Amino acid sequence: MHPFNYQRATSPAQAVAAVAPAPSAAFVAGGTSQLDLMKEEVLRPSLLVDVAALPLKTIGALAGGLQLGAGVSNTAAAMHPEVLTRYPVVSEALLAGASTQIRNMASLGGNPLQRTRCPYFRDPAQACNKREPGTGCAALKGINKVHAIFGASAACVATHPSDLAVALAVLDAQVQVVGPAGSRTIAFPDLHRLPGDTPQQDTTLAHGELITSIDLPAFTGRSHYLKVRERASYAFALVSCAVALDMDGKKIKRARVALGGVAHKPWRVPAAEAMLAGKKPSEKLFRAAAEVAFADAKPLEHNAYKIPMGRNLLLRALLETSGLQPLQGPAGTAFAASVGGMGGE
Ligand SMILES: Cc1cc2nc3c(=O)[nH]c(=O)nc-3n(C[C@H](O)[C@H](O)[C@H](O)COP(=O)(O)OP(=O)(O)OC[C@H]3O[C@@H](n4cnc5c(N)ncnc54)[C@H](O)[C@@H]3O)c2cc1C
Repeated sequence: MHPFNYQRATSPAQAVAAVAPAPSAAFVAGGTSQLDLMKEEVLRPSLLVDVAALPLKTIGALAGGLQLGAGVSNTAAAMHPEVLTRYPVVSEALLAGASTQIRNMASLGGNPLQRTRCPYFRDPAQACNKREPGTGCAALKGINKVHAIFGASAACVATHPSDLAVALAVLDAQVQVVGPAGSRTIAFPDLHRLPGDTPQQDTTLAHGELITSIDLPAFTGRSHYLKVRERASYAFALVSCAVALDMDGKKIKRARVALGGVAHKPWRVPAAEAMLAGKKPSEKLFRAAAEVAFADAKPLEHNAYKIPMGRNLLLRALLETSGLQPLQGPAGTAFAASVGGMGGE
């Protein structure tokens, strides 16, 4: 690991003032992503500013919704009674990620900002435009099994790894940030970006901007998160999906659907959402929506399996969210059932 300086921030403003003027300075919260990447020499910051002790650890009511402090641990958020009952998609996504020990350390601010799990990004011996712009993308012609099927570019085919981010993408969540130019609010779908020809930039945050909270608006509908992974725990999504349905009697008033593990950002599917709005839930409708959701997928050599896997997972998520099919077990155990579902393809 390269030598670096370390400071413990005393306030959000002081944290911003310490990071903003130093181009290679970074925040650290739980450190579960940042420190791993430093040990692997993927990241070499000159200064780490520790924001873990800042007073950003509360969950409270906000305009009918919920404000989640950026310093709240993944465990605390997942187990919070209001999150469990009103926003189960958030709780399920958090519990489907990592391990108990990691969730105890990991923070809500750090989780959506974790870097990709692309093995070529995480190996400094490999060409990677995201790690070192201009060096190429070894994944394009490499073992691209876990890579993107939507929104990729010739410069980068990496996917975004956070489960929580996929859940937040269907809740119209807002991210509150404070930075060198003051405070601002970012609509969650605008936080992450597609790679284009600048894949080194994962998000629309400016250097030195600190997330202070993630705000969830009021939501009275049903929501759900399902994830397929190679092991039943402690593994990242091959494909995941988050669904939020607002019901009007027996009809779907509004549907929001996001896919994870398939793109450089949580992938909303407006065509599927439009198909579901105003309709009565049925398996036929959900099959058609799942078909539409993957119609524009562009697989690479080794990841075409994500299309049938994703269609089946989305079908199951819609059936379970709407109540047409009972929940098939606790969050994080989607693997067996979903792989079983692949048999039909
Ligand atoms: C073995 C393993 C398995 C895992 N499995 C999963 C999984 O299945 N699903 C999943 O979603 N995640 C998984 N993770 C990732 C883990 O959830 C994240 O590492 C964690 O949530 C990041 O939070 P943190 O507080 O530790 O962030 P840190 O590591 O401290 O920081 C991560 C990034 O966020 C920035 N940052 C932190 N806080 C702020 C802030 N408030 N404002 C602005 N920038 C900030 C840092 O500068 C850094 O760039 C896994 C991790 C490991 C090690």
